[in-house]
Amino acid sequence: MKAGVPSGWGPLQVCDAHVHFFSHHFFTTLIGQKPGLTFEAAQARLEWDLPPQEPEALAAVWAHELDRHGVHASALIASIPGDETSVVVAAHAYPQRFFPFAMVNPRAAGWRPESFSDVRVACLFPAMHAYSIQDEYTRPVFEWAHRERRAVFVHCGVLSVGVRKKLELPSPFDMKFSNPIDVHAVALRYPDVPIVIPHFGAGYFREALMLASLCPNVYLDTSSSNNWMRFQEAHIDLRQVFHRALDVCGPRRLLFGTDSSFFPRGWQHAIFDAQSTALYELGVSEPDARAIFGENLLRIMAR
Ligand SMILES: [Zn+2]
Repeated sequence: MKAGVPSGWGPLQVCDAHVHFFSHHFFTTLIGQKPGLTFEAAQARLEWDLPPQEPEALAAVWAHELDRHGVHASALIASIPGDETSVVVAAHAYPQRFFPFAMVNPRAAGWRPESFSDVRVACLFPAMHAYSIQDEYTRPVFEWAHRERRAVFVHCGVLSVGVRKKLELPSPFDMKFSNPIDVHAVALRYPDVPIVIPHFGAGYFREALMLASLCPNVYLDTSSSNNWMRFQEAHIDLRQVFHRALDVCGPRRLLFGTDSSFFPRGWQHAIFDAQSTALYELGVSEPDARAIFGENLLRIMAR
């Protein structure tokens, strides 16, 4: 493996807090949601390399990809409820390399904290599964995180799932459940549970900052192309986003992420380049860059 990812500060130890693990089980579940759709037809539509059957084999593909870019470690997000085993198996195959994150629909019958015993971060998508983060449904997830010293990821803001669009799967999401302000009471109730809001709130930047300023257990992930910037009333660029986020949260509550997900695209180096350039141009110090690009995630994972 290369020693770090080249950057303005020199080679950086990079840990990616937002990588989706599109497992075989993920695909078969999605394909099963569209009558008549076959694996081959889905592949033709997506033009992606569909994953090998065994999660260990897909983990090997990701490990090789991270090696190629000099990336130290990453989250692997099981991106459909019930797929936690895939990421747990991947993380067992490569300990210290991958951190198992897993989507949970707390409204669905059958979620048991026991099935999450090896999961590091539970990922909630309230708009996708149509519940409020304040509903009683979510209590077992936060209780689990509190008891087991784990973290919770809460997707807020604009939610569009590219793979669902490409496969023309219905996406009956409800954005009224996507405001970071709704997380306030929950974050206060569980002050020792790190809560990660991805994509700087994905359009609710101001609200995500307000939440983070009130709750020291709230972290913002920087992942994706941050296309939500086009919804801002005034023009804002990545440098201004980082400037404001650093002003409110400081460097220890930002988690670098790319939102990488499928092959052959693989790890999205261009996102690292854009974000590291923005931070470098802002004059962020090397220790702060090391925190944002890796140490913060490692600290949360080491709890
Ligand atoms: Zn994502």
